[in-house]
Amino acid sequence: MKYSRFLTAVSAARRPSPIRVLTELQQRSPPTLISLAGGAPNPNTFPFESTTIEVKNGPAIVFNEAMMKRALQYSASSGLPELLAWMKTLQKNLHGPPTVGYTPENGQMDMCVTTGSQEGLSKVFEMLVNPGDNVLLDAPTYPGTLAALRPLGCNLISVPSDQHGMIPVALRKILSRWDPSEVCKPGSTAPRVLYTIPNGGNPTGASMTARRKQEVYELARQYDMLIIEDDPYYFLQFDKPWAPTFLSMDVDGRIIRTDSFSKILSSGLRIGFVTGPKPLVDRVVLHIQASTMHTSTFTQLMVSELLHSWGQEGFLRHVDGVIEFYRNQRDAMISSAENWLKDVADWHTPTAGMFLWIKLKGVADTHQLIVKKALEKEVLLVPGSVFMINSGDPCPYVRAAFSLSTPEQMEEALRRLSVLIKEAM
Ligand code: PMP
Repeated sequence: MKYSRFLTAVSAARRPSPIRVLTELQQRSPPTLISLAGGAPNPNTFPFESTTIEVKNGPAIVFNEAMMKRALQYSASSGLPELLAWMKTLQKNLHGPPTVGYTPENGQMDMCVTTGSQEGLSKVFEMLVNPGDNVLLDAPTYPGTLAALRPLGCNLISVPSDQHGMIPVALRKILSRWDPSEVCKPGSTAPRVLYTIPNGGNPTGASMTARRKQEVYELARQYDMLIIEDDPYYFLQFDKPWAPTFLSMDVDGRIIRTDSFSKILSSGLRIGFVTGPKPLVDRVVLHIQASTMHTSTFTQLMVSELLHSWGQEGFLRHVDGVIEFYRNQRDAMISSAENWLKDVADWHTPTAGMFLWIKLKGVADTHQLIVKKALEKEVLLVPGSVFMINSGDPCPYVRAAFSLSTPEQMEEALRRLSVLIKEAM
């Protein structure tokens, strides 16, 4: 794969920060090295000394003085080496990316740590999307994606989707406007980037089948596109075996995958990952060098210590526990929906994630209903329009999250919603 044609001028112009390169060299050197090079402060002056973090069902994480000093210090822009190594092994075991054995130039799989997957996504978009570019995605979609993409001045093209995600036939039809043999020519307006949330989509709850992914991947090959696989709900798939990922099919090195620990370890620690071809991950790291420098060393070390003490088996056992919780929550939400919304709304039961996407009958646009009337009835949902490319377009959907409420609260909330809909009808 030739990656240069995908880079924006801004991304292509990024150069390594000489100081960051030295810092990283220093961290990999023997302790006998005397460095007068780095600009790191002396951690002996920092006020924090040590800490112990108690862990549910497991040994505590102890930060002694030496660990604490490391946790409080600058670290590599790509992420803490031991956290990255652990995650690379996990990615290889879960997805078996064909690119693992490739040369770096040919798209060898690489990874970096990001401050939540949102940081990874916004940096990936900035690396790949020029003003005026056509970008493909299956709207309704995550507002954080729209917020990151819109200011780049691109033209968002919505690919029709259903409860199984993006529809390959519809994608093929959109792409038929371009001649595949012309897409790499300078000046071509053919989309170079496709974005999708393959599991438990936010807001739709949709999950893509392996077959659809394969078909979309084949189209990406035909039209030489990169696919951004934004998969924060991968670990919240309720049924096993989990669907094969785009990364697992990536024979060319055209998948950039974002993973998140927000739904399974902590959303506030801000730990996410970008996995993709090395030449592109390198560009994201250069951007990190020039912006946040790195994700908090403290939180990376905390998570790394936990993962190393759990091992992969312990991690996946924990994930199973989280899945069990959300599956029960999903079941409670569906049961309440059946109790109260059967005659006034439609929905599909999600197989992953934390959202139910509800289409209200007889309501052309849910915005006013939610923003004004729902508050009066003391039930809050998200009006569907905020997930649309044109947020001004009428949308009959609402998004209900089943992550935080108790089954009793969900029951009461959907009862209140049913009254609202009936009044609106
Ligand atoms: N992508 C999607 C589809 C999401 O729903 C979210 C969070 N709601 C994110 C990315 C960002 O997650 P984080 O930055 O916490 O990893």
